[in-house]
Order: sequence, then structure tokens, then C-alpha cells
Amino acid sequence: MNRADFPILKETVHGRPLVYLDNAATSQKPQVVMDAITEAYTHWNSNIHRGVHHLSQVATMKHEEARQAVADFIGAKSSDEIVFTKGTTDSLNALAFSFGEAFIREGDEIIVSAVEHHSNIVPWQMLCERKKAVLRHIPLHEDLTLDIEAFKGLLSEKTKLISVAHVSNVLGTINPVEEIIRIAHERNIPVCIDGAQSVPHRAIDVQALDCDFLAFSGHKMYGPTGIGVLYGKREWLELLPPHEGGGEMINHVRWSGTTYNELPYKFEAGTPNFVGSYALHQAINYMQSIGMDAIEAHERDLTEYCEERMKEENERMKEEGVQVHVYAASQPKAGVISFNVFSRQDLIHPFDIGTLLDQQGIAVRTGHHCAEPLIDELGVPGTVRVSFGLYNDRADIDAFIAALEKTIRILC
Ligand code: PLP
Repeated sequence: MNRADFPILKETVHGRPLVYLDNAATSQKPQVVMDAITEAYTHWNSNIHRGVHHLSQVATMKHEEARQAVADFIGAKSSDEIVFTKGTTDSLNALAFSFGEAFIREGDEIIVSAVEHHSNIVPWQMLCERKKAVLRHIPLHEDLTLDIEAFKGLLSEKTKLISVAHVSNVLGTINPVEEIIRIAHERNIPVCIDGAQSVPHRAIDVQALDCDFLAFSGHKMYGPTGIGVLYGKREWLELLPPHEGGGEMINHVRWSGTTYNELPYKFEAGTPNFVGSYALHQAINYMQSIGMDAIEAHERDLTEYCEERMKEENERMKEEGVQVHVYAASQPKAGVISFNVFSRQDLIHPFDIGTLLDQQGIAVRTGHHCAEPLIDELGVPGTVRVSFGLYNDRADIDAFIAALEKTIRILC
């Protein structure tokens, strides 16, 4: 797919052509997104919503068009349900604070899962500490999929919210969020989906999914950094108090007190990132011009091909006492593969593998991937992670496998 649209892919690293396989951390940007940022600052930069002058009206229109584009992209009923944030982390913190203020009391329980990113753990821990509530997590089966029977056992009248990742940023596994939402709704418990690793890679329809909240980041979906989204069903957002105070989120401010703005502005204190929202809109247009189903199919093909090549590599290396271990092997995955290399049972540190791959121009991520509880459960200090974007191709995977083999021969 359209590699030429991404200028950075022509870069060389340590004298080698760049092979970028760190898309779960952040994606590269197509030229249209970079052009959008330049266009905004060159032609219509102006603070939005409060200005009567021409530039302010143009900037306001672009920001609100972006909100509508996001709403359409995820199938929201209305653009009022789209709150612009800085990213997934910001969205989840906003929700934890606001929902916590309104609905969490001492002894209440919130449920996440064993595969969460820290940004879907720590805000809830902070809330639980503040309110003397309890954070529980859905455990894993041995095959590293979520144990849904155990999840059912965690539910009680104390459960006030469930927040789970759609796709694990470590394992790439696709969590059964439809089932979780159905089970939760039978008990009238709202569900938040961390869509950081799903929204960039597959079509999401929040109404079909019936999630109550959805959080995601612009920079992981070919858009700029510093812009993200918290979607919430209108009936929930109306019940929640603002999480931050300042300009824009108010209706009237008097010394006697303040009344708040309507949705979604009551959650958007201060000057919003209107250049970011415009660039995100162009990123969405770009993805839609390819088609989300085509992106999903392409990345599924890459994931299956890569797992197959890694299996072959494991077979090749077996006789030399080397194991290439893929986590959650052969589970359906969304563009993310984590692995480790063991030499006669000893772990080769993922950092060493990542460093030698980098020397060969291959960008992967190593470490705990901001999911320490899961990494602890895997019983290792970290993993090596490859993750795909729409511009990757099989040649990238071939280059990665060749470099991995060289790396193994050096280290083992
Ligand atoms: N949730 C998941 C599953 C992620 O993979 C990430 C980032 O890697 C985040 C949340 C946090 O996203 P951000 O750093 O853009 O806020």
C-alpha cells in the first residue's frame, strides 16, 4: 500500500533502509497530514469559537468538521458525543476523574483486564485510592486469552464500571469486547473500551458495539501527536461533571458560581488543539480512501505471514538449542506480535535483540510496553514487539526475519 505517501519511509538508519515495525507505539504520517498542519498555520490559524473575525470562523468550522468526521468514522450518533483530548491516556484520565466524582463511592469496584496498558490501570488505581474503591482485573487463561467465566464471577452489585482494551498492545490479541459489553449491560454496568490499538486498524462502529465510552489516540492512526478522542454515549456524558475548569467549558462564570457549557464543550477546557483535529481529520480521510476493511485485511495478512516466518525460524534454530517464542501464538491478532528468544532455556535480553535489529535498520520496540502486570505474568523482564501499519509489506517482514537470524547467530 502507498508507501510513497510516507516520506519518512525513505530514510536510512545506520546506513540501512528503514524498516519501521513500531506502529503500536506510534504511526508514521502521510504527506497530506503534514501538509494539513502547514496549511493551518499558514492560512487560517486563529483561536476558535470566540472570534467574530474571518480566520476564527474558518478555524472553528475546520475543528467542528473534524469532530463530525470522527463521529462518522466510529459510527457515533452525534458529534456532541466526541470529546477531543490529548490522546488515549488523557481520555481515560478524564473519564476516571469525572466518572469517579459522579458515581464511585467507598467499596465500589471497577474491573479492567490482565492485559491493560498502564493508562487503563493507573487512572483507575488513583481513583480507587481517592474513593477507597477496589480495582479488579479479568485474569488470563493459559493461552493468554481473557477468562470470561472468571470475569462473570467478578461481577456484583458493587461493580460500577468495566474498562478493557479492545486489542492488547503487547500480545496483539483481540479481546471479546462484544461479549464483555453484553454481559455487563445485562447488569446495567457501563463499559469503556480502550481503542488505542483497534481504532487505527479496523472499522469500529460504537453503536453496533454498544460500548458506553471509547478512547483512542490520533498519533497511532497516522494523525499528529497531541490529539485524541473520548467518545461517550450522550446519556452518560450528560450525567458526568467536567474534569477540568477554565475557558470554553463554561456557560457563565459569576463569583456566586459557574454554569457549564453544553456537550461536548464542558469537557474541553482551554484552547483546543484545533490544528491537531484538522490534521486528524485528514488522517481519517486518508485511511478511508484506502478503506478500513482493506487495512484490516492487509495487516492480518502481514501478521499471519510474520508468525509463519517466525515459526520457520524457530524450527531452523531448534537444533542449535535456540527457541523463538511467540506469545499467544496462533491466536487471532491485530497487527502486533511479541516474542522472546531463548538460548538453551536462557532468555536473550529483548533489549539486546532490539539493539542489534536497530543496527540493521529494523525499528522494533523492546521492554514492558507500559503493561508491567502482564509482562510480570509472562515471567520475563520484557518482550520484543513488532507491530504493523498500513504501509508495511512482506518485504519488511523478510528483512526483519533475515536481521533476526543474524542477530540470533551473534547472540546465541
Ligand atoms: N492503551 C493502549 C492499549 C496503548 O497501546 C497505548 C499506547 O501505546 C495507550 C493506551 C496510551 O496511548 P497514548 O500514549 O497515545 O495516550
